[in-house]
This record gives sequence, structure tokens and C-alpha cells, in this order.
Amino acid sequence: MRIDRLRITVLSAPVAEPIAMSFSQLGSRDMVLVEVLADGLTGLGESWVNYPSWAAKERVATIEEGIVPLLVDLDVSDPRAVHRHLRQRLTRLARQWGAPGPIWQAISAVDIALWDLAAQARGVPMAALLSDTAPRFAVAAYASGIGPSEVERYCEAAMVAGFGGVKARVGFGWERDEKTLRTARAVIGERAELFADANQAWSVAEAIDFAERSAGYRLGWIEEPLAGNALEDLRALADAIDTPLACGENLYGAAEFARYTGSGAVGLIQPDLAKSGGVTLAGEVAAALHAGVRLAPHCYGGAIVTAASVQFAAAHDVVPYVELDVRPNPLRDDIIGGALAVVDGKITVPTGPGLGVTLDEDAVAHYSVERRESGLRAVV
Ligand SMILES: [Mg+2]
Repeated sequence: MRIDRLRITVLSAPVAEPIAMSFSQLGSRDMVLVEVLADGLTGLGESWVNYPSWAAKERVATIEEGIVPLLVDLDVSDPRAVHRHLRQRLTRLARQWGAPGPIWQAISAVDIALWDLAAQARGVPMAALLSDTAPRFAVAAYASGIGPSEVERYCEAAMVAGFGGVKARVGFGWERDEKTLRTARAVIGERAELFADANQAWSVAEAIDFAERSAGYRLGWIEEPLAGNALEDLRALADAIDTPLACGENLYGAAEFARYTGSGAVGLIQPDLAKSGGVTLAGEVAAALHAGVRLAPHCYGGAIVTAASVQFAAAHDVVPYVELDVRPNPLRDDIIGGALAVVDGKITVPTGPGLGVTLDEDAVAHYSVERRESGLRAVV
């Protein structure tokens, strides 16, 4: 199978008010959608562009000028082989650029699209292609995107949808963090697990302090506690506290993931399918997991990475949860007509070929701010 055309669409949707993280804030919902057209089929992919605010511009250029030339007249029927080809050609360049992230994030979009294509070509859901056994019919979801504002409102919404877990943003100082955790636990009671995400806010001493102070809230995991995710420091922290540690959304490459999953410091590893290297990379991480380490894909993007995460989770029993931002995101919900909704805490896995979701072209056009298309057949 060879690619005829590759289309990149940048989508953007405003948010009612900026969404605060411990390191920055999100001023809009942005998404880079990649459509790979081959053999009359269209594979869908997505590249992570939440930060910085100009990431989409860089990503269009990286995909168009860095990746498209490497795909011209290439046999793309085996996504793993294409993944190998792209990373061999691009990771050395990424080191010289000092930008492994954007390169992996660009590869991610193409990889998701090629898995979608491969599954469509066989007429099966992506989960069936990824799984040795029968994939799950539904996957449990946890609610993220909670705090530091409107904690009560979004925890209540999460309980109405039946989410089995709730993840709160912390790293805003103990007084505010404590208020977030107290409010969240008060709303969810014992109906759901409670997790905390610090987005790399602390030193080891600060993280130990948080873990001790928050012990009464019975956190299921503390995510990215330490600045830079330094592995030695995570080990020291893990030795000092009882709460499992989670990280992965800012790691790149299978070797780096292996260092973390084999370290004994990380109880939950979180590759992001639109960021870390696509379905292929997440599969490599899952295949190399050490005993006792679970995998929950990080997912804070649009419709396509969400659909891919659901298919991936359905195919891997080691995945306890899919992450779903509880705040509204039209680039996740509207452009696929509300598919992937959470009912009783679970998302039903689409059974159609590939990702099993269909783009609402009117909605895509509504949020589209740029569209580019490249031909990938060599001119004879
Ligand atoms: Mg996180």
C-alpha cells in the first residue's frame, strides 16, 4: 500500500477561560489532524500541539517538510516498519535540533493514521489488529482536567458519568492543593479513585511533603511530581513514600520508557499516543512492561488520539483506564459527532473498521484554521 495524498488540518477552538496548569495555561483547544489517503481509504492521525501556543505552525512544517518526503512511494502497509524508517531517519536530526518532542509528536500522527489504515484495509477494528486475543468491548475511563478551579462542579459531572477515577491538578501550593483534594474527595466519596497530577512542580523534598500531607486523601497515584522527571530523584521519592508514582507523557523513545518502567520507581507509565510515538511506541512499552507496572495512556487531545487510546486500551489488559478530560472539548466531541461518550464510567469500543469513528466534515470545517495537502506519488 502506498500513500496517494496526505492532508494536514489545523483546528482551533476557544475555551471559555484559560485552563490553569502548574507550569502554564491553555488558552485554546488546538489540534493537528493528519489524514493519509491510500487505496481509496483515509487513515486518521493526530499530533499533540497543546504547548507552546505556536506548536501547530511548527508541526505543519515538520510533517510537510520532514516526514512527507520520507513517505513518497514507500510501502506503508506495515505501520511498525514505517515507524522504524521514520525514527531511523529523524531521531538523529531531532538530537541536532534539540527537539526530540516535536519529531516524535509528528511521527505519532502518521503512525496512528497508518494503524487506522491497516485495520480498515483488513476490515477490522484497530483493537483486533493490536490484540492477540479478543479485545474488550468497553474500557473504563477516569476523569482528568479537574482543578484548581471549579473542582466541585467537575467532580459532580464526573460522578454523573460514572467515572471510576478522578485526577486533580496540584502543584499550586499546599493551601490550594489541599482545598482541591478535600473538595474532590468530599464529592466523590469512595465511589471513585482519586489521583493527583503535579505537572513536574516539585523537588524531592516538596513531593515528600505533599505525599505526607495528602495521605488522608488516599491518592491512587501521584503523577509527574518532580521537575524534569529525573529518574534518580523519582527513585528516591518512591523509596520515601507509599503512593505509586506515574509519569510518561514527557518521555520519548522506547529506550527511555524502558529505563523508567524498569526502575522500580514508576507504578504507572503513561505514553501519549499523539505525542510519545503513536500506537507503535505504546505497544512497545506495553510489551516490555515489568511486573507490577501498569500502563494508562496519557490523553489530553482531540478526537483521534482519544479514539486511538480507546482501541489501544481495548487490546491491552494491562491498561486499567483511558484518560478523558472532563471539561468540554469540541475538538474531541463535536468533530466525531459525540462518539466515545462515557456511560456508567465506560467507553464502548467502536466496532467499525480502524478507529471506528467518522469525521463530521462540517464540524472539522468550522474549527479549521489551516489546511494543507501533499501528493506522495513520485512524478514519473
Ligand atoms: Mg499529566
